[in-house]
Amino acid sequence: MASHKMLLKNGVALIHDANNHVVPTKTDILIQDGIIAKLGEGIEAPGDAEVVDCTDKIISPGFIDTHHHGWQTQLKGRHADQQLLDYMVTGNFQSLQYTPKDVFYGQLAAMLEALAAGTTTVVEHAHITRSPDHVKLAIAGMVSSGIRGVYCYTPMARVKQFNPMTFHQDILADWVMETFAELADQAPFKNGRVSLGFAFDLWFLGKEIVNGMFDEVREKDCVKTITVHGPTLFNVTQITNAFGVLDERILISHGGHVSKEEAQLIKAAGAHVSSTPSTELQMAMGRPLCFDAAFPGDGSDLNRVGVQQCASLGVDCHSNNAGSIISEARIGLQDARSHYNEHWMKQGKTPRRLPESLSVEAAFNLATVQGAKACRMEKEIGRIAEAYRADLVVFDALSPGMIGAAQHHPVAAVILHSSPADIETVIVDGVVRRNNGKLLPVSVDGTAKEVVVKTELEWEDIAKEIVKSGEIMQKEMEKIDVEEAFGAVMKLWRVDESTIVD
Ligand SMILES: [Zn+2]
Repeated sequence: MASHKMLLKNGVALIHDANNHVVPTKTDILIQDGIIAKLGEGIEAPGDAEVVDCTDKIISPGFIDTHHHGWQTQLKGRHADQQLLDYMVTGNFQSLQYTPKDVFYGQLAAMLEALAAGTTTVVEHAHITRSPDHVKLAIAGMVSSGIRGVYCYTPMARVKQFNPMTFHQDILADWVMETFAELADQAPFKNGRVSLGFAFDLWFLGKEIVNGMFDEVREKDCVKTITVHGPTLFNVTQITNAFGVLDERILISHGGHVSKEEAQLIKAAGAHVSSTPSTELQMAMGRPLCFDAAFPGDGSDLNRVGVQQCASLGVDCHSNNAGSIISEARIGLQDARSHYNEHWMKQGKTPRRLPESLSVEAAFNLATVQGAKACRMEKEIGRIAEAYRADLVVFDALSPGMIGAAQHHPVAAVILHSSPADIETVIVDGVVRRNNGKLLPVSVDGTAKEVVVKTELEWEDIAKEIVKSGEIMQKEMEKIDVEEAFGAVMKLWRVDESTIVD
């Protein structure tokens, strides 16, 4: 692939100007060695270039997902009507059921779902650190998919058993940070397409231990992103600030409960936020923080603090909702507009127009340029520009969903009208991963050779493995005393029982 050249002819590309306004522009795009080498009309195809006719196509920068738990594919559909504490039992803590092989297929399938939906970069909050092999196979799944990613290695509390639910006592067994150090020495993986980050949620270990771990992370220059689950029950911004670790590397997922003071801390530190509208709206995690105007006059003045400018979007649990960043942008935008409108309607007033910060362009930017900033790759991805990585999504402007909107307002067509079915081609690093609407086979990363016999997998092969391992996990899940485990989670998180509404 090294010298592969491709020319996308005659498409309408969604190009960001200097002020990050999106300007639909008729242009050819020459891709060379994984990079956008040239933009402009009438580019002559080099003799060895593959030419793709993009007449009646919209070409978008690949979408960026800044919070995802890819391993959970086998748990899809289990949380349809659940809240957060139940999800912890039937979702998060089910990592116990996963073999390293299950993790490989779960991660791979999740990344392929993302790719099929036009996502080209994922920040993985990888809380599947049950053993060094689980981690290595998760990375192998990510690498094999062809997606660009930041694999955020996550030290975590490991469930030992259910009935009763207990945890392994050695949260920080020697292998935990040793494996991190080993991976940091190998990173990045696959020519830099998958890099190593760090994820952390174990604040209860206390300042001394936490700072020791962060020092170990800091020693590894390769780690540019440290992601943490945001304030649902813990005041994470204030903790990270008090521990002296709140800086531009920190990416806080969720954040619906942050106060004005916390929002100011996040901004002052140059830290970043990932809103995950579907899970946040469903699971009582507060209002997605990614649109300032969703907080008009609620007393917190969050709208004036302006966290939107350091916000991005994540899918969080594709076990709960679709793995599409476009659909998260749409849900987040319409929810924010609802809060904005309600504010005025409650006063007997009628809002005449929506503010610019609640435009489809603002939503598009959260999913592209701002996602790139959140994972600190804004000089490489998130926009269509010369010398940027060729991470591109080609939409059919004549599809039943896009027709009309695509010709009149291409950004609206993408954010409000499109579905993954309208996506014809997905390119990451100049390599086509979805073509004519179909995912292409993936080559299996060498790290996975002990659990995967084939060197190349079709989607159908992967789907069969997911169904098989999902059924085994469901049988095990049915043996679990969910009420007992629910009680254990409440104790662990120090949730006051009298506050629970049934
Ligand atoms: Zn999460």
